[in-house]
Amino acid sequence: MMPDSLVKLIESFKMLPGVGEKSAERYAYAILELDDEMVDMFVESLGDIKKTIKKCEICNSLTNKNICSICSDDNRKNDVLFVVDDPRNVFLFEKLNMFNGKYHVLNGLINPLEGINPEDIGIDSLLNRINKEKFKEVIFALKPSIEGETTSLYIKKILEGLDIKITRLASGVPIGADMEYIDSLTLERALSDRKEV
Ligand SMILES: [Zn+2]
Repeated sequence: MMPDSLVKLIESFKMLPGVGEKSAERYAYAILELDDEMVDMFVESLGDIKKTIKKCEICNSLTNKNICSICSDDNRKNDVLFVVDDPRNVFLFEKLNMFNGKYHVLNGLINPLEGINPEDIGIDSLLNRINKEKFKEVIFALKPSIEGETTSLYIKKILEGLDIKITRLASGVPIGADMEYIDSLTLERALSDRKEV
């Protein structure tokens, strides 16, 4: 019989996306092979993550401070705002190093069928911020779906009449979880070919 602690570890790994029985077993045995020190580090980072990661008070991205490093960076352009629906996309764009403005992360997208309304995804705080920070352009990089469309049109309608250019990435770019598979050139093109919403 497999020792309980090993079974438990395998079950834990299986909670992660894309990890099935086989991979979970492989990971668990790999942990057994690690030095005690490495295992301690692993355990510590697992324990820390929920305690130290929080949402930036300004942009709603993930950070370990009250205000994230992007919002507090005075060297970034502060007249362009990139709106995404998932904090992972902030890190992705940062990794590709193709945008030097500010970000704002919505808590998902409007989806009336699932009862997700504008107030549920933090549109209020986005609008407050747009009113306060005098952006010249707001670029939407939302998932290309009905929900993404609904969300960008909803926000555009509210911003109508203000002197702000509203654009979105050129279509054809599957933004979202799949975005990590897109190369920087494709994204750079999507950014430079962006269109008015
Ligand atoms: Zn921030």
